[in-house]
Amino acid sequence: MRFFKLKPHWQILIALLFAAVAGVVLGKGGIGDSGFGRFSLESCRFLGSIFMSALKMVIVPLIVSSIVTGIAGLGKMEGFGRLGIKTLLYYALTSLIAILIGLAVVNVMKPGLKDGVPNPEIKKMFDNKAAELGHSPDKKVSDAAERASKGSKTVIDVFKSMVPSNVIKAAAEGQMLGLIFFSIVFGAAMIHMTGESADVMRHFFIALNDLMIAITKGVMLFAPLGVFALIVPVMAETGLSTLFGTLLKYFVVVLLALGIHLFVVLPILLKTIGGVNPWRHFVAMKEAMLTAFSTSSSSATLPITMRCVVDNAGVSRRTTSFVLPLGATVNMDGTALYECVAVIFTTQVLGYEMSLTEQFAIVFMALITSIGVAGVPSASLVAILIIFKSADIPGLDPAAAMAVLLAVDRLLDMSRTVVNIFSDSCGAVIIGRSEGEKGILEGNQTDVFGKGF
Ligand code: ASP
Repeated sequence: MRFFKLKPHWQILIALLFAAVAGVVLGKGGIGDSGFGRFSLESCRFLGSIFMSALKMVIVPLIVSSIVTGIAGLGKMEGFGRLGIKTLLYYALTSLIAILIGLAVVNVMKPGLKDGVPNPEIKKMFDNKAAELGHSPDKKVSDAAERASKGSKTVIDVFKSMVPSNVIKAAAEGQMLGLIFFSIVFGAAMIHMTGESADVMRHFFIALNDLMIAITKGVMLFAPLGVFALIVPVMAETGLSTLFGTLLKYFVVVLLALGIHLFVVLPILLKTIGGVNPWRHFVAMKEAMLTAFSTSSSSATLPITMRCVVDNAGVSRRTTSFVLPLGATVNMDGTALYECVAVIFTTQVLGYEMSLTEQFAIVFMALITSIGVAGVPSASLVAILIIFKSADIPGLDPAAAMAVLLAVDRLLDMSRTVVNIFSDSCGAVIIGRSEGEKGILEGNQTDVFGKGF
């Protein structure tokens, strides 16, 4: 079939478009309530969850083997501290810029107001939700919050989990930081091993790493089907009326702010600090971006992000294996930006004018909480709840506000996840270049219609 002869990203894009149409047909007002409709949606959910699990299944062995080979292959630990400092600086700087963009856009566009006063329709949605919930929290909200809170932590917890008391448990629970720390120690210790056993270990980890990359490529062969299965239920549940309804302006404001960060700020950093052509980097990252969009999970996308950064952008495995796994949990520009917009939007709807100091407190909290947020769908919810609880906004019912935000969350989640992983990948390129690496983004990727794309 001609479809299978297309490049993988075209296949994924076509699957995405078909899924959007199928989702609308199967959604509210469509045929979703018929027996056939329910069967189709359930089948999609089943296939989608298998695809997500297949992506996640390679994460632990991939991270461990790539960090161990990255360090041990280098033969020395020299320069690792420098790499760490640069990485953390990059994470902090880009997250802060992202939040400030969110803050500026939400203050200029004021999505919570209508004709200069709190939008009465949105306010009514908040009040209705609050009345509906009474004292019993919305099942959807608490489910999403529970799902997202698994793995989300406070900053203190983040530091604590860095040195795991049980590495197998850390791996089983997806505690990325603990795993990264253990792998660095393991690789560093291997440098000092000599003799035959040292060679065996080295060969083993190199082979394991190659094998995991091969499995990732294998999983991606099913990406069009997986993406289709993930997107159909999302579109069916969200529905066009929710999107183009009362919350449209909020939706547009978030997308605009994310767009500025993705298409203006990060490319400027790539060009000025990294000295590379940003367009080439977009082309290099296309498959990872499409996967992030479809899965709403930076963690599940990590294997693909790593592959794109190494194979397409040409960053060394040493830099990639350090910057990306850490970035997937710690660096979340899109999430930090979203938290800020969501909180300020809520205060606008409630007619509460925040002082400059209060707004800066929100900026700070968004920066700190985005570090502890896990790279899973709807994880921002937990951070927003934490901010709501500590910000003490008059008249706010956190659960009701969350229930309203949740209505348009999934599509915004898909978009901010793209920004999250793209920022990580830009970090890898910029840091790789600053380490003097040659061959980054020097291929023929600008050739849109030819071989490179
Ligand atoms: N889904 C996002 C991610 O995985 C996190 C969030 O903002 O909810 O990167």
